[in-house]
Amino acid sequence: MNANTSWQVFGVVIEHDAAGVKPVSLEMINAARKLADQISATVVAFYLCRDDGGGDDGNATATQRRQLAAEEKVADALIQNGADEVRFLTHPDLNIYIHENYSFALMRQLEKSRADYLFLPATNNGKELSAVLSAKLGVGVATDCVALSVSGDGDVAAVRPVFAGKALATVRFRGKTPHILTLRPNIFRGTDPAAAVPRRGEIFREDVALPEFSHQAQRLVKKAASQLDITEARIVVAGGLGMQSPANFKLLEELAEVLGAAVGASRPVVDNGWREYSNQVGQTGRTVSPDLYIACGISGSVQHLAGMSSSRCIVAINTDAHAAIFSVADYGIVGDVIKVVPALTHEFRKVLAA
Ligand SMILES: Cc1cc2nc3c(=O)[nH]c(=O)nc-3n(C[C@H](O)[C@H](O)[C@H](O)COP(=O)(O)OP(=O)(O)OC[C@H]3O[C@@H](n4cnc5c(N)ncnc54)[C@H](O)[C@@H]3O)c2cc1C
Repeated sequence: MNANTSWQVFGVVIEHDAAGVKPVSLEMINAARKLADQISATVVAFYLCRDDGGGDDGNATATQRRQLAAEEKVADALIQNGADEVRFLTHPDLNIYIHENYSFALMRQLEKSRADYLFLPATNNGKELSAVLSAKLGVGVATDCVALSVSGDGDVAAVRPVFAGKALATVRFRGKTPHILTLRPNIFRGTDPAAAVPRRGEIFREDVALPEFSHQAQRLVKKAASQLDITEARIVVAGGLGMQSPANFKLLEELAEVLGAAVGASRPVVDNGWREYSNQVGQTGRTVSPDLYIACGISGSVQHLAGMSSSRCIVAINTDAHAAIFSVADYGIVGDVIKVVPALTHEFRKVLAA
């Protein structure tokens, strides 16, 4: 299938890290596929990465062959999850995300191949990139979408939270394309593609010419790129003022390590400088929808709940049995975090090791 047909084209910007394609990217592909099947549209995955592959002229080095094999694996995962085309856009400075480089490469790509809708994840990077692309292209963006559908006339409608999550609005696009949507992680999970009939798709590879500044920016953002984004984590262990001091967050880090979780925080904790802003959950922080959210010493203000109440399972630990957090918790522990959290860590370590 070719992207340049009169059919609608759904572009999906793939987020990845050292471990490969992030789960949220497969969720986006899944969501785009479900929409595409209703209107016979094409799903095109854009995968921006470093160019180590070299040519296929038989002289490729071992590193280049490994890179090509890795790319084939990536492409297969994306195709089996629903992509019709995978486009590798390569340049040494596209190895890690930098909005200047990524937006530059995508803008050039969108000049050549059409996209009616462009999906990005509502992660730190995805939110930034969608805003940059929206401003540069002069197109609309619907952020943090939690549901998608196709209307009778073939347009995509997106449901997104408004008023700090107190209401849901259904939005539709008009005007210049691509219409940009960011999808909330952990919401659009699909079924295991291994159980389905194998799919076929096309793979394209293109070297991108980036402007001079790209290499300089790459060095500046290396540290930021290595931090875990709490919006994508399947488990979040979050601490509030009840943790009493920044040093006590070590207890949450230990529990998070055992569970493979990310550490979140309430706003006053961030305002106090105990944790970084990227950790903040709530109305003025991040919105998370993990499988498990463990709230430690967090009272449960409406502003905090706005960022985590859509979690699948909520566990709250608080000394105050009447704390508001217990009203949204599936499991509540009335107790001192300083005693309860290490006990949980100990038990989880034992059970998970077994
Ligand atoms: C416009 C606006 C936007 C806001 N945005 C956000 C936001 O994005 N995110 C956010 O979190 N807040 C936000 N807030 C702040 C919010 O209103 C609350 O002040 C904040 O969430 C409270 O944080 P907390 O639960 O950590 O602290 P507290 O409300 O002080 O609660 C601490 C809790 O710890 C418990 N506790 C104390 N000691 C222990 C112990 N040893 N063991 C167990 N429990 C203990 C206490 O019983 C209490 O329930 C916003 C406020 C405004 C006005």
